[in-house]
Amino acid sequence: MSALLVKGGRIVDPSQNLDAVGDVLLVDGIVAQCGGTIAAPAGAQVYDATGLVVTPGLIDVHVHLREPGREDVETVATGAHAAVAGGFTAVCAMPNTKPVTDNQATVGFVKRQGEAAGFARVYPIGAISVGQQGETLAEFGEMVAAGAVAFSDDGKPVENTQLMRTAMEYALTFNVPIVEHCEVMSLAHGGSMNEGIVSARLGLKGIPAEAEEIDVARCILLAKRTGGHVHLCHLSTKGSVDLVRWGKAQGINVTSEVCSHHISLTEEAVEGYNTNAKMNPPLRTAADVEALQQGLKDGTIDLLVTDHAPHHYDEKEREFADAPNGIVGLETALGVNITYLVETGILTLNEMVNRMSCLAAKIWHLPGGTLAKGSLGDVTVFDPKKRWVVDPKQFKSKGRNTPYGGHTLTGQAICTIVGGKIVHQVS
Ligand SMILES: [Zn+2]
Ligand SMILES: [Zn+2]
Repeated sequence: MSALLVKGGRIVDPSQNLDAVGDVLLVDGIVAQCGGTIAAPAGAQVYDATGLVVTPGLIDVHVHLREPGREDVETVATGAHAAVAGGFTAVCAMPNTKPVTDNQATVGFVKRQGEAAGFARVYPIGAISVGQQGETLAEFGEMVAAGAVAFSDDGKPVENTQLMRTAMEYALTFNVPIVEHCEVMSLAHGGSMNEGIVSARLGLKGIPAEAEEIDVARCILLAKRTGGHVHLCHLSTKGSVDLVRWGKAQGINVTSEVCSHHISLTEEAVEGYNTNAKMNPPLRTAADVEALQQGLKDGTIDLLVTDHAPHHYDEKEREFADAPNGIVGLETALGVNITYLVETGILTLNEMVNRMSCLAAKIWHLPGGTLAKGSLGDVTVFDPKKRWVVDPKQFKSKGRNTPYGGHTLTGQAICTIVGGKIVHQVS
């Protein structure tokens, strides 16, 4: 028997409506008891969480781990290590790898790499279309059997609307979400930042808000037609929030997510042609940021994610328009979310934990997301008041591409526990 007693922390578990100081006992990788004062069984390891917050392990349903194919920029192991350093006990890996994760063998490979690494749990997402070519539906059944938890062609949208309809219908059989990167490519038209006054001033080609919103509307209407579950990636505009709010009010099976960078930064971050502020969808206006924060508050947006996207240093050291999209996020997300959502009074700590853990497990049908007795022994212990300066050189991720380098954030993961074992700890 292996036992770990997490003692004296403030347990915040929205899945059980629990917010109270107490102990959590993990035995053989499972929650044996949660809340109140628990006596340590003989031989148990004891972790003193006094003054810290203890929550169900954080789950990020949107990361890019680059393996197979670009092990030079990230591997499943380095990504999973970055995850636990940031307080995440589970991540869902997007399939835009090389080769594309569109078959049973590659899904199984990613899953096994995650298990071998022994950090965060890694749940593969399978591609919707073969090779992400947008032409033929991939083999959902075989991938689900190998461990795929959702399907997405993220990196780009599924442009063929008939294929998207079929994907939603087919996914119903397996009770998994279809996850869409919402973008009308012909309207985004090779833009590299938000279309507006800043892009005009910098002389950069812009991406209008409607490039996202038209796809958001299309997906909601297809979910209405099919009854399938569509999960909309990285919403970035006020219009998208309004559309999802409408969809949910109609009872349509739509869920959505927002990235930590989209609730904390605006298009102004691009000033100086900063390629570490280049992402897709792009950073938008202050009004969009406010609408996204409100969407999180009222439940229109279900989840907070990172869209962790490591790139090689050289690749970002290019002219803005030619640099790749994306930033790393696993090691800064908790601090960014606490700093910009909790410290500002937009979300309570409970609401933030719900959107970073409990709801992810619930709406994607993943294990974890709760400290109820008998559930996975995945726990995040963090200090909500700790101020720290982001130093990308300290990242466990191979990626250094972050717009938060040198920023002071409040809130940091102190101890990350996966399956009853401490896999990351700040002394
Ligand atoms: Zn995307
Ligand atoms: Zn992505």
